Formats: sequence, C-alpha cells, structure tokens
Amino acid sequence: MTKKVFIRTFGCQMNEYDSDKMADVLHAADGYEKTDDVEQADLVLYNSCSVREKAAEKMFSDLGRIKHLKAKGVLIGVGGCVASQEGAAIVERAPYVDLVFGPQTLHRLPKMIADRRAESRPQVDISFPEIEKFDHLPPARVEGASAFVSVMEGCSKYCTYCVVPYTRGEEVSRPFDDVLTEVAGLADQGLKEITLLGQNVNAYRGRMGGAAKGSDEIADFATLLETIAEFDSIERIRFTTSHPKEFGQRLIDAYARVPKLVNHLHLPVQHGSDRILSAMKRGYTALEYKSTIRKLRAVRPDIRLSTDFIVGFPGEEDEDFDKLMKLVDDVGFDASFSFIYSPRPGTPAANLLDPTASSVKLKRLQHLQGVLEANVLRYSRELVGKRQKILVEGRSRKSADDLMGRTECNRIVNFPGGPHAARLVGQLIEVDITEAYPHSLRARVAATETALSD
Ligand code: SAM
Ligand code: SF4
Repeated sequence: MTKKVFIRTFGCQMNEYDSDKMADVLHAADGYEKTDDVEQADLVLYNSCSVREKAAEKMFSDLGRIKHLKAKGVLIGVGGCVASQEGAAIVERAPYVDLVFGPQTLHRLPKMIADRRAESRPQVDISFPEIEKFDHLPPARVEGASAFVSVMEGCSKYCTYCVVPYTRGEEVSRPFDDVLTEVAGLADQGLKEITLLGQNVNAYRGRMGGAAKGSDEIADFATLLETIAEFDSIERIRFTTSHPKEFGQRLIDAYARVPKLVNHLHLPVQHGSDRILSAMKRGYTALEYKSTIRKLRAVRPDIRLSTDFIVGFPGEEDEDFDKLMKLVDDVGFDASFSFIYSPRPGTPAANLLDPTASSVKLKRLQHLQGVLEANVLRYSRELVGKRQKILVEGRSRKSADDLMGRTECNRIVNFPGGPHAARLVGQLIEVDITEAYPHSLRARVAATETALSD
C-alpha cells in the first residue's frame, strides 16, 4: 500500500518551498504520497518556524495533539528553524519525536527514516552541509501554474533581532547553471510564472561555468533575472525576499530592461526611524530606503510595494513610531506584514532593555495595521474599471463556479470561468475588474491569450 506523509508548514515561503522538497524527496525515494488528513498518515512532518516565539510555541502545542498517532506506528518528524535551533532538545521536550532535521538536511530524510527504523532511537541531523541539499533533490513535481525556485540559502546580515543566520546558516548561492537547469525544466513543463526564493534573494552571487568548477566568474541577481527572462514560455518573474541594502542600480536597471519582472516588489524596511534601524543593524537609513524606491519608480512608475515592519523594538519611543508612520505615508505601501518584536534567544537584541509596555506596542501595531489595510482597499478600488492580466491558478475558494487568478500586484481575482473554465487554468488572461473587496477583487474575462477554439 502507498505510504502517506502529512506535512504541516509554519512560517515563510522558504518553509513552504522546503516542505514541497520534503514531499518530492520522500516520493522519489520511498513512494510517499502527500495527504491532508493526519489520521491517514504513516509519517507526520512539522516544518517549524522560530522567527517569532508564537510560531515556535504553536508548533509544540500542535505537536502534542498528534502524539496519540504513535500508537499506530506513525513516525513523527520536526524540521525547519526550531529544529535547527533546538536540535536534540526537541526530543527531550517531546520524546515521541522520531526525527529532527534542519532546513539544510531535509534531503537526508529517507536515510534518517531507515536509520530510525533500524536503530529504534530518535535521529537528529541539523548540520549545515552548505548547499549539498540541492544536489540531492529530485526534479520538482509541479502542480499549478507557478513554481518556486530557491536560488540561495541562509543569511549573513545578522540583524540584531533575527534568528535566521543561526538557523539557516550564512548566505550560500546555488551555482548559476544549476538554477538555469531547474528553470529550464519548469519552462519545458509550460510554467508561466517563476518565483525566485532566498532569505536575501538579491544577495545572489552564483558561480558561473557549469561543470568547469574552476570558473571564478560570478553572476549577480540582475544577471540571473535577465537570463531567466530569456525563456520564452516564462512570462512572469517574481522574487522574495530582497534586502534594501542589496538593491543596487544594476537591479533597478533590470526593472527597466525586463518587462517580465512583475510590477510588484516586496522590500522589507522594518522601521522608519534611523535610530531603530541602526539598533536593528539594517545597514540603511529611511532616506536611503526612500531613495531606492524613488529610483525604482523612475523606471517603473506604477510599481506596487509591500514590506515588513517590526513594531516595539526595544527602546522604540513615540517619536520613532511617528517616523515609521511617516515612512508609510511617504512610500504608500500596499499589502504588507507587521509584527510586534519578539525577543529571540541567542540574538543580540534579546539582551536589550525593553521598558515599553506590551499594551503600548499593541496600540501602535493596531494603528499601523489600520492605515495599511486602508491603503490596500484604496489601491484595490483604483483597479475597478481597469483591465488586468492575471495568471489563472484554479477554482475559486469562494465559489465552485468561479475561477481564481492573481494580478501582477498579487491580488486574488475571482471571476466566472464560463464554458472554457478548465482550459483557462494555468494561462495568463486579461480580465476587467468589476468590484474590490478588502482581500480580493471580482472581474469578468476580457480576452484570453490562448486560442480557446480548436
Ligand atoms: N530577510 C528578510 C529581510 O531582511 O527582511 C526577511 C526574512 S525574516 C525571516 C521575515 C520577517 O520576519 C522579517 O522581515 C521581520 O519583519 C520579521 N521578524 C524577524 N525576526 C523577528 C522578531 N524577532 N520579531 C518580530 N518579527 C521578526
Ligand atoms: Fe533576518 Fe535580517 Fe537576515 Fe532578513 S536580513 S533574514 S531579517 S538577519
């Protein structure tokens, strides 16, 4: 009988990507199929996130709820950043866990499972074998119209609040030709959209020269984007997450030269006060951030921008928060993420005095989120009556009669697919936006790029 794996993912898109890779590795090695029903699973994997305390704690409390499955012989594994940080301590806290693996060792899962069965003791492997994992991954099994391609791993920026450099290791870029080979495979499958992934994806510096391992020529992120744009069938390129410090002129020029780069950029700023940005060790001022945006808008006037904010970093005063709100006003951010600062063990900021009351931080967060939400709705309403190109992803979650797609600015669009609905999935089509809601748009089909008549 086919073995089944249930994978629960916490956290960011890198973790979503890693979860897909876990499924691919287990399918290729042992024929595992994914299941959404934990009760049906032979193997349960939790891909954890430790960026904020809440996500880490939620993982442990959810884990407790599935330990009864052990009685059926189910294996339980914990991967991701909590696993990387805590290692064997996870087994001490949750002795029913069989496997603990980090983001860089997920490709070793089949061997760890075999060892667990042979040795009947928990297996822990949270080493950082550089970029070895990519050499051991089977070709991706693509579902849908869009795919993620990881181009670099880790982070060497060491922002004072962040665990990522400790859980995922330092920045390592995949060789240029390896990335292109993966993209070529996806293009051959007719994929229209690629999202390049990395903790600091624009810090990409990939060795060129393929098998000639001696080559010391390095491709930067702009070169990678321009090369990927040459694949005819790929019509949209996205990337996340990029760092403002790495957003140089070459990347801005790429926006002028590569129309396939979507008119949407997620560029985390974290704060608007230079005092706080410096304490966070972000490496730029609010003015420098705005100047990057100004240059970008000079070549892409209607680009939509989203960002991440941390509210309530130790020492944040009212006047710092006012500067954050001024930056929101100056830039005009679209849908963005905002979080209350969460002290993470082992990071420099965790040792800072933090006299601000939680209630004050919460008020600031709510104020920020209110303004951001209003921006989102305003920008959505501006789209009503306009024609947009969307990539059709599949059935709408709201109604089985409708299809769902995404605009370049990443908004969900629901629309009636009509008699040709099945053939629109995976295609880029034009729609006229008819209504705007807080988290989605409604539209009708204007024209399809593909000929729908045989
Ligand atoms: N590398 C990206 C960058 O430089 O912005 C982001 C990666 S980080 C895993 C994702 C987001 O989590 C960050 O942009 C930040 O807003 C948030 N984050 C990271 N550490 C945090 C902490 N200790 N407390 C609250 N939010 C945090
Ligand atoms: Fe974390 Fe900063 Fe690296 Fe982003 S750049 S992953 S916030 S250390």
